[in-house]
Amino acid sequence: MAESDTKTSPTVLPAHAIDVGAEPLDRPTRNSVGGQPFLDEAQPWPECFCGERMALFFQLDIPLDVEHFAGDHLLVFHCRTHNDPSDPQLSAGRLVPRYWDAPQPPHPRPFWRVLLQRAAKPVAETEPSLIALPLTLTAFVDTPDSHGLGSQTFKVGGTPSWAQEPEHYTCACGAELVYVCQVPEGMEFGGDTDALFLGNEIYLLACPAHCDPAAVWPVNQN
Ligand SMILES: [Zn+2]
Ligand SMILES: [Zn+2]
Repeated sequence: MAESDTKTSPTVLPAHAIDVGAEPLDRPTRNSVGGQPFLDEAQPWPECFCGERMALFFQLDIPLDVEHFAGDHLLVFHCRTHNDPSDPQLSAGRLVPRYWDAPQPPHPRPFWRVLLQRAAKPVAETEPSLIALPLTLTAFVDTPDSHGLGSQTFKVGGTPSWAQEPEHYTCACGAELVYVCQVPEGMEFGGDTDALFLGNEIYLLACPAHCDPAAVWPVNQN
């Protein structure tokens, strides 16, 4: 048997690089830093446990070639005051029930909210703390390297570039979370906001069963 028959090449998953534009937006735009969040009708603008409305850092439509989440609208909110690395809380080998609302010691609840929305429409208000800028998604080939790692860039889909060991989590519902989006370490979004999660690299793992719009775990590494 030829050598090439026994080797399996790495799986190349559909990937899209995310670029931040320079021209401020003046109208609701589905792919944006800041701007007007596109939310499902029943979904209020998330608030932190401190009572402050969380800042919309970015939102985008997940491209149709990204498995499990095609066509979902992804939004990343984070408090402007509270900032720490995320700290997964587990129970019986799974993330704790309603982990998106569960205590995040020393905080009584998470200071972030990541949402996947399926019938998102723009709300009237605009994120006040960030300059609204367009995001452009461009398909690229995210070929894993010899360690199985994808490119270290702002992207949706593809393969995470894990700064440390790969992390895998089981949703409270029992489904294995699936990687969907990566924010590179230290990425600044401007305005009067600090970097997300103290500037850690972020790997968003989401529930493919869509058990809740907030069933997304932000893995932090550096
Ligand atoms: Zn807060
Ligand atoms: Zn789930």
